Amino acid sequence: MSLDQKITEVRKLLDKVQADYAPAAFANSFGAEDMVLTDMIARHYPNIGVFTLDTGRLPEETYSLMQEVADRYGIRVRIYFPDPVAVEAYVAQNGPNAFYDSVDLRKSCCHIRKVEPLKRALSGKRAWITGLRRDQAPTRKDLAQSEFDAANGLQKFSPLLDWSLSDVWAYLKQFDVPYNALHDKGYASIGCAPCTRAITPGEDIRAGRWWWEDPEIKECGLHPGKRRASASVISVEKKSLMEDLALSHQGQYQEKGEERKEQEKEQEKERGEHARPPAAFPV
Ligand code: SF4
Repeated sequence: MSLDQKITEVRKLLDKVQADYAPAAFANSFGAEDMVLTDMIARHYPNIGVFTLDTGRLPEETYSLMQEVADRYGIRVRIYFPDPVAVEAYVAQNGPNAFYDSVDLRKSCCHIRKVEPLKRALSGKRAWITGLRRDQAPTRKDLAQSEFDAANGLQKFSPLLDWSLSDVWAYLKQFDVPYNALHDKGYASIGCAPCTRAITPGEDIRAGRWWWEDPEIKECGLHPGKRRASASVISVEKKSLMEDLALSHQGQYQEKGEERKEQEKEQEKERGEHARPPAAFPV
């Protein structure tokens, strides 16, 4: 299917969401996929709301893009913050970077900073829209383009589910859509600053998110997904994903990736046997 045909399919789905599922809202995390949907929704769907979750730990580049979107499209992106009392209690008990210490502590942080604010953002809505793509992660292989989100009690639409990474970048280029500056620094997926790093050639596109955890369980709770049986799925698809990524950025990741690999080798040496990642990972 050509990109134009894929755009037509997405537009049909968004037409349906706007007509049949009002009030509906788009969850925008300002990654590349979400900028495709931001562009379409801002230009064609005034009745679909747009919101984002400000965890308090976002990279500066994401705030810059938020402002750029406001200036470019003139839309209001509603920003939801975590409950400050819950954040204070978590940090007081566990420390500011406790997410590195265990999966449970990481998930608790995601719950406070993302999952609970998401529930507030979705309250009263009949549907929400995400920029999920099937080949982003093993946990996303079996998602459906339209499915009932039982955890939040509403319909969930993922219009780009079967888009490739190349499709995403082709769209951004064709429509001159602004995107997060971190993508040009080797970040394939963008989240909170301390839990996201650039990837190197040969790495899975989600390898930069919670990189110290098993890829089979890496989700923040916003998109629980359905686990696949085998981790081998990742290695089988790694090559094509990286080809997509390399094509999309015309090889610029390769150069930066080699440089970064050297830096990481040095960091590995310094860390020695310690499992805990550096508290301030270079971004
Ligand atoms: Fe906390 Fe990291 Fe989750 Fe952000 S991604 S909410 S900093 S654990």
